Amino acid sequence: MRERHPWVFESSIRSVSQKGRTGDVAVIFDRKNRFLAVGLLDLESPIRIRVLNVGSPARVGEELIRERLTRALARRGSLLEDGATTGFRVVNGAGDGLPGVVVDRYGEGVVAKLYSAAWISRLHELVPAITSALQPPEVVVLVSRTVADSPHCPDDFARGAVLVGDLEGGALSFLEAGLRFEAHPLDGHKTGFYLDQRENRKRVQSLAGGARVLNVFSYTGGFSLYAARGGAGAVTSVDVSGPALDQAERHFQLNRDADRPGVDEVPHRAVRGDAFRVLEEMGTRGERFDLVIVDPPAFAKAGKQTAGALASYGKLTELALGVLETGGVLVQASCSARVAPAEFFDAVHLAARRMGQRLVEIERTGHPLDHPFRHPEGEYLKCLFAQAH
Ligand code: SAH
Repeated sequence: MRERHPWVFESSIRSVSQKGRTGDVAVIFDRKNRFLAVGLLDLESPIRIRVLNVGSPARVGEELIRERLTRALARRGSLLEDGATTGFRVVNGAGDGLPGVVVDRYGEGVVAKLYSAAWISRLHELVPAITSALQPPEVVVLVSRTVADSPHCPDDFARGAVLVGDLEGGALSFLEAGLRFEAHPLDGHKTGFYLDQRENRKRVQSLAGGARVLNVFSYTGGFSLYAARGGAGAVTSVDVSGPALDQAERHFQLNRDADRPGVDEVPHRAVRGDAFRVLEEMGTRGERFDLVIVDPPAFAKAGKQTAGALASYGKLTELALGVLETGGVLVQASCSARVAPAEFFDAVHLAARRMGQRLVEIERTGHPLDHPFRHPEGEYLKCLFAQAH
């Protein structure tokens, strides 16, 4: 706690003065009964308390939340300077002093996602804090799967709720580095878009000139659009989800309509299927690419799945190298918090050796400015840019 870790596990609590309810303010004392911190109680999670203030008491309510929001916005100042990016993460949970809450901005609209049932009882403070700090015409509230399954979650929240304004067509439009995108909060992943890959997409853009690009696990085509703008010869997106690929096509169309340079001229092909099989088949057919992006979903959700996750990352590296031209660039990411960056990078290199190849690193990247983390469990994103030899 003194190192500002934002979680108190059930197993580390020695005694409790009153039972309390999920969402109540918990005051934490040390062994000598000295004040330590305040946080929110969550009786349904092994993370029993999410800490909001350490070292001094604080009044938990709208004002504290608004103050955290304002500070978080100030930290992101440089991202917003030129107006070319209107979709970004405003609050990344504990990294921004609000553990268990994520707040994303898509254009004018806001999507908040709750990862602890404690925040459901605090919505009457959270939503006014968001509206006064950000003045959004729309506020959508989503809950994580765990929260949706909790008895504390009202039925009308389990699939997300539009609490302010109305969500026309189910989508929020926004710009990312000048490209047009849409987030579908109520039926998308995360809050509707993978905002965390923005900086990696920019890197892909700068590497894509003239390249045949393959974007595996493309979702709605974030990387594909940047590759096209970067002057790729052709772009192929692969995903198992039909709706995600339809949205990728729509993103191409939106940017063609807006005459975004580059995107206009580049052919885009969407391939629906299991990435492992599609890569295997492409390899066998002799299809080759100059730039391959591999950004799979989190493989290890629990600690004991780490070994399996590493094996899957290695397998994907092998398959990707099977379709990558010698001298081509591999971009491989992991969003499993349970897999440490060094373990991931090692697994990728090992797999390359098994294929009789060497990867010359261009860059290793981590979290972007709007996804700060303060405790080890909050670090999930890592990405390798490397040239195959
Ligand atoms: N790179 C994307 C985010 C990827 S999220 C972006 O920048 O927006 C992971 C994606 O993998 C999801 O779209 C999901 O539909 C897809 N997926 C999950 N398992 C898959 C599989 N076995 N084969 C292909 N796609 C898969």
